[in-house]
Amino acid sequence: MALLLIKGGRIISPEDGLDAHLDVLCERGRIRQIAAEIPMSSADETIDATGQIVSPGFVDIHAHLREPGGEASETLETGLRAAVAGGFTALCAMPNTCPVNDRPEHTRALLDRAARIGLGRLYPIAAVSFESGGEALTNFSELLAAGAVAFSDDGKPVKTAALMRQALQASRELDVPIIDHCEDASLSAGGVVNEGPVAEALGVRGIPNASEDVGVARDVVLAEATGGRLHIAHVSTAGAVRTVRAAKRGGVRVTCEVTPHHFTLTDEAVFEHGANAKMNPPLRSVRDVEAVQSGLADGTIDAIATDHAPHAASLKERSLSEAAFGVTGLETALGLTLTRLVHPRKISLWQAVALLSTNPARVIPQLARAGLGRLQTGGPADITVFDPRLTWTYRAAEGRSKSRNTPFDGWEFTGRVTATIVGGCVAYRRC
Ligand SMILES: [Zn+2]
Repeated sequence: MALLLIKGGRIISPEDGLDAHLDVLCERGRIRQIAAEIPMSSADETIDATGQIVSPGFVDIHAHLREPGGEASETLETGLRAAVAGGFTALCAMPNTCPVNDRPEHTRALLDRAARIGLGRLYPIAAVSFESGGEALTNFSELLAAGAVAFSDDGKPVKTAALMRQALQASRELDVPIIDHCEDASLSAGGVVNEGPVAEALGVRGIPNASEDVGVARDVVLAEATGGRLHIAHVSTAGAVRTVRAAKRGGVRVTCEVTPHHFTLTDEAVFEHGANAKMNPPLRSVRDVEAVQSGLADGTIDAIATDHAPHAASLKERSLSEAAFGVTGLETALGLTLTRLVHPRKISLWQAVALLSTNPARVIPQLARAGLGRLQTGGPADITVFDPRLTWTYRAAEGRSKSRNTPFDGWEFTGRVTATIVGGCVAYRRC
């Protein structure tokens, strides 16, 4: 395989304590050398990264790729194309497909398909319960052996405290995270947008913060009681951030993530974007947006995850109450992170790289063990190169995802991925 040289960039790799202008030479899928002034003659292909950041490949631990069963909205191939265009070299696929990924043969089929496609690395997340129905645990050991890296009933919460306790007990023995979508259905049922003035103005039922806060509190109690490994998906409320912060201080094994739309927009975005600003959990109040931004700044929130949720137009072009929940996110995550957090100095560039690569790989031990989320000699050559100062306008119609359901169409961002390298091969390059 050809030798690839990334030259002249500023390498930031939090796990390796690295922030320096160095060159990176890749060979046979691995990083062969990281050093100053590696001569171009030692490579077959060179990427000029002058003025750019060279980061460990981004890792998205929360995406919905819809295959099998939802190919009208996304396929593994279009999803992985969108991922590498957004700088993600690895992506974890949620199991709420049709059928649900609740058996080893489903997990293996996904991995076989992804291997044939190439592009980014796919890591399946398997269901906690059969059909994510909340009744009986799936066979964790068999699913892990087939290649699953975590368990979640995402789209819904793990239905009962009893089942969550069982799952967390198993997670401790297997050292694998249980990723929970925290929502108390008795509070959220029938809800369309955040509870409050926006829901009232629209005349639709609201989803209260308490729906999420109750779920997070339940899970933290169970994580503490079992010693299990808990990861909270897409936190959106000030209360969720507060509970996770306190739990971490108390030594509970809990991590959490936030999506770019939740640290960027409030529920008022629904007035302008309609169903393209409808997701679950919903966009919240200014106070909640500020709380998740503080959680990112102080390390309470471990990772930025996209919750990429593509939907074909037919599922979104309905009344607000009937439209599907979810927005796409793979191609806008870096632009939003830099434009909304780094450039306004809410977090540093170092933190941004950690939130997009190093930390998500740590949340799922299997990814960290594979060497993801860092840049080290001998490690996998999964690298994202981005220009933090490049200004561009996102056009959903030109995106790689099969779906266009985003509130960020036409937004101007400062910061863009210029090259994505997976296993030493260029999977995306901005032309
Ligand atoms: Zn969810």
